[in-house]
Amino acid sequence: MSLSTKPAFPLPVVLAVAAGGLAAGGLGGWLAASNWQPRPEPSVVVVSSPDIPDPLSTAPREYSWTTQPPPLFPIPPYARYLRELTIVIDPGHIGQSEKNRSANWKRGPTGLREAEVNLRVANYLREFLRDAGAKVVLTREQDVPRDISDKEDLAERAEIANRNRADLLISVHHNGADSTEANYSTVFYHGDGSKNPASLSAARYILNGINDALRLEKLTEIPLWTDLQIESRTGFGVLRRTEGPAVLCESSFHTNPAEEQRLRDPVYNRREAYGMFLGIARWAQAGLPRVSVVEPTGAVSRGRSMTLQLDDGLSKRDGNGPRALRVLGASLRIELDGRTLDYLSLNQKKGELKIVIPADAQRGATLLVDFQNIFGQHVTYPRIPLSIE
Ligand SMILES: [Zn+2]
Repeated sequence: MSLSTKPAFPLPVVLAVAAGGLAAGGLGGWLAASNWQPRPEPSVVVVSSPDIPDPLSTAPREYSWTTQPPPLFPIPPYARYLRELTIVIDPGHIGQSEKNRSANWKRGPTGLREAEVNLRVANYLREFLRDAGAKVVLTREQDVPRDISDKEDLAERAEIANRNRADLLISVHHNGADSTEANYSTVFYHGDGSKNPASLSAARYILNGINDALRLEKLTEIPLWTDLQIESRTGFGVLRRTEGPAVLCESSFHTNPAEEQRLRDPVYNRREAYGMFLGIARWAQAGLPRVSVVEPTGAVSRGRSMTLQLDDGLSKRDGNGPRALRVLGASLRIELDGRTLDYLSLNQKKGELKIVIPADAQRGATLLVDFQNIFGQHVTYPRIPLSIE
């Protein structure tokens, strides 16, 4: 397959011509022609470059998916919804020591280190997200080995996301396989998807962004993978320990010789980051639902009511229109330590939810309140630890 990674790509030249508004030179040429006849003027004239197929008469199959479009990275208007979000980017393996590892640990066939590619993509992604107004934290800035165990390293990465109460942790990786043929994109979420629906939602958007950006020829049948498929008992340390939405991208295979060469190209790395960025921006446009406790502010009493504020992540955007929650009615789920609770009342207009704490609730119980907004987005931090008296 032949993915073009040329930084300079010939651009199609499109001339917009308003009806009746031909340029003077063109008009002179027409009038001079002896057999001139009035004819309908096209509203747009496309001057084709030899490298660009005629966009009006080309059959879909004549286009190649793996031919990359020009490397242009504009920020779309919907990226504005990233403005108040905190995104933690985790460049995989950066800082992990290569001591006591095999000589070709996390390296491509000609020696390209996965970590180095992960950091380049992470840096480009940070640039896009910052430009759109997000607060961005990288878990690792320097490509310098540290003297800690992998377990401690992964725990630290998750801790950075938790400390920042990140709206999203995106861990950037490139895959490896014994077969040099393998090359496809996967995005991982932790554990059972029904326990992490907000992560799963982010994973879907980001996967689509990566697909569009890298334009790989191959694909795996189900590219959203639970981390239990790789680490069957615990899943990935960084995803398991992160409390908010978290995904891990294995965008392509650095062990595939052709892909390894593309991954050496910073323009290709930037394409990948842009794909992730568009995925994250579209995810943000879909709104991030939240739940907060209104009262009581301290400990909760058994048998007493509790008031929570539901935010669909969308309603605050328009100052006009109806203010009612844009929530899928049947999606509201309330659980105390895994036991389903009914609500006392739900004011759809105000987003106010009242529940009663059962008489037999445990001291340190965890309340879960989740729902889906009209985009299908779930609550980013649905678990509320309670102190019950
Ligand atoms: Zn990796």
